[in-house]
Amino acid sequence: MTATRHEDAPGATSVLLGVVGWPVAHSRSPAMHGAALEALWLPWRYVALPLSTELFEEAARALPGSGFRGINVTIPHKEAALALADEATPAARAIGAANTLTFLEDGIHADNTDAGGLLDALEQSPRFLRVLVLGAGGAGRAAAWALREAGAAEVSIWNRGPERAAAVAAELDVVHARDPRVALRGTDVLVNATSVGLEPGATPAVALEALGLSGAEPPPVVADLVYGERATPLERWAHAGGARVVDGLEVLVRQGARSFEIWTGRPPPVGVMRDAARDSLRRPSGAPEP
Ligand code: NAP
Repeated sequence: MTATRHEDAPGATSVLLGVVGWPVAHSRSPAMHGAALEALWLPWRYVALPLSTELFEEAARALPGSGFRGINVTIPHKEAALALADEATPAARAIGAANTLTFLEDGIHADNTDAGGLLDALEQSPRFLRVLVLGAGGAGRAAAWALREAGAAEVSIWNRGPERAAAVAAELDVVHARDPRVALRGTDVLVNATSVGLEPGATPAVALEALGLSGAEPPPVVADLVYGERATPLERWAHAGGARVVDGLEVLVRQGARSFEIWTGRPPPVGVMRDAARDSLRRPSGAPEP
């Protein structure tokens, strides 16, 4: 789905985009989207909007009247964003969360570009591959759904709290992995969708222990949705074991690129967005955006 009013954009100075979350000050999205808008000579602005849970719905509904064409939505509002939308893509509906809202004349449209963003970042089709997703929170759900939809031979999902993984596995019709070490055998792609690795000073051994993978060798491809200024413990483990690594910043860039295209109708300048996101990460501005 692409916003239909983009043709009136050139010359219009009042078109706004943004990212809404709580907190949102450390988001990389304004840098990334700002650079993309500039590269395409679109005189639009992309801003960070901190909104608490109590204010989210009312404020989001008021945004189109203030010149907003669309917003990215991050923690903790992704479920609420889907709930307030008039229309939603199959991805957003199946995942139960939206990270992209587009304000159109016929209402609010919801999408989930986290799912497609992960597939884009993998840069290879997961068709016929065996995938293990660690984490059954919002990101794990989106990853498991995306990979299943893209034709993976088998998608397994593990979570520290097994009830959550069991529920997501049943709902998305994927396999509930009870023992991650056993599930890792024969896996082609491992996706870390837990928040393990964000702890300051975390080592590969500590991260692997938290994930029930102590002593395991990495599979051929490791995608870590966690990202920071430096390589995450899982990325270090994957590199040391000769795996191909897909980092979380690339996933962020690719989901942002998909949102950008929905709003503007223009092919996103992915390289510009990647450079801006990486530059912004080097600045000492604290924790990365979820
Ligand atoms: P969430 O819904 O809060 O889920 C958190 C997940 O991490 C749960 O599965 C939780 O397990 C697990 N977890 C937390 N601490 C753990 C530990 N010490 N050991 C084992 N598991 C642990 O969060 P989310 O939205 O899914 O996000 C998960 C991560 O993905 C975050 O780091 C976020 O920044 C990242 N993310 C990145 C992108 C991107 O574009 N790169 C996009 C979305 C999310 P329990 O259920 O057992 O608590």
